[in-house]
Amino acid sequence: MTTTTIDAAMLWTPSGWRSDAGFDSDANGRIRMLERAEPTAGGGWIVPGIPNLHSHAFQRAMAGLAERRTLDGPAGAAPRDAHDSFWTWRETMYRMAARFDPDSLHAVAAQLYAEMLEAGYTTVCEFHYLHHAPDGSRYADPAAMSRALIRAARETGIRLTLLPVLYMSGGFDGRALGERQRRFGHGVDDFLALIDTLRGDEDDTLRIGCALHSLRAVPPEAMHAVLAALPRDMPLHIHIAEQVGEVQDCLALRGARPVEWLLGNADVDARWTLVHATHLDGAEVQGIARSGATVAICPTTEANLGDGLFPLRDFLSAGGAFGVGSDSQSSVSPVEELRWLEYGQRLATRHRNIAVDGDSPSVGETLLRGVLASGAAATWQAVGKLEAGHCADWIVLDTDAPQFAGVTAGDAVDRWLFSGNRNLVREVHVGGRRVVAEGRHVDRDAIAARYRETMHALLAPRAGIS
Ligand SMILES: [Zn+2]
Repeated sequence: MTTTTIDAAMLWTPSGWRSDAGFDSDANGRIRMLERAEPTAGGGWIVPGIPNLHSHAFQRAMAGLAERRTLDGPAGAAPRDAHDSFWTWRETMYRMAARFDPDSLHAVAAQLYAEMLEAGYTTVCEFHYLHHAPDGSRYADPAAMSRALIRAARETGIRLTLLPVLYMSGGFDGRALGERQRRFGHGVDDFLALIDTLRGDEDDTLRIGCALHSLRAVPPEAMHAVLAALPRDMPLHIHIAEQVGEVQDCLALRGARPVEWLLGNADVDARWTLVHATHLDGAEVQGIARSGATVAICPTTEANLGDGLFPLRDFLSAGGAFGVGSDSQSSVSPVEELRWLEYGQRLATRHRNIAVDGDSPSVGETLLRGVLASGAAATWQAVGKLEAGHCADWIVLDTDAPQFAGVTAGDAVDRWLFSGNRNLVREVHVGGRRVVAEGRHVDRDAIAARYRETMHALLAPRAGIS
């Protein structure tokens, strides 16, 4: 059996940095043992890879392309009174989504996953709803779009939890999908068949889970039918309470706020990841924390879309589990997600150092510990810890960078997260395989060249699609 022995200068563990630890990884990409070892300066400062709990890969292609006002506003209103919103952004997103086929999805996802790896994400939860051809007809292989994502993940080396999304209706009132939503749609039976097919492709670096797009897109009877039919050994993700309008519609049509309704109508437990959960009342904060579910917060996307601010302080006080996601890919950096998770709270409260708990006064350490602790449940893979039996997924920090001059165990994580925009990730390993060296993905140039070609084709004007 091939083993690689890593003797870290410093190794991050749930209780902090250790200078006396190293580990072996086996031929299956798992940690064989964590052992005592002498500190080796050359071994670097090693952190488990960061799980990315929420991604829509195709949206990488539209990052930066929805930052212009699209509305004229109400008749007679001054331009400054017009408001773009999540809902107007969604129209731009639908236009881009309509242009994808399996090959372009593969090229864009590979570029995105290489960027994620360079930034320190080693696992991605792909919330995948671009299932069919643009007119809603099935591809010859109904799983073709899912397989494009799997191919991109295998090619780049990122660990993937693929979450095919059930998307059935265009609103809480059960209306049919709009024209641009048709390629997202499934009935309960063909959705379950897709999951069943994809489970046949699972291996050491691929897990299949299930996502419900949102309460507005999945009628209650369908949700119950899917949850009853699914195997128990998979994660469940759902977009929830991202928009005030969604909360109002849910109250009007289901008589409860979205999270309140979900907690009352599904057996929400640690298998669940609630994506965004931005708009919560106090009882919902307590309810999620009690359930053991993880909240996937996507601070840069939530800021970009003008969603609102997650009640982080109350949620941490309640003992809630959280992770982060790159979601719309307006940023592909766990550092930026974590920094803005904290900064949003500071701006709102006019206080500093909000995300701290009893284990450490360090904001960086509290945030890092949080996103690593929730990783295994949310991704359904043994990630987030460098311990025997866990995935050998790790990052080596670039401690030669000026940002780390004079670094100590007490300030290393805070320096990583709060010292600017230079990427401080030097190496990344997934399943024991090195995929990033000297800050660059090993296939960066070839993947980027194909991505450029694909983008030119995606952005070219074409008949029938505006
Ligand atoms: Zn999303």
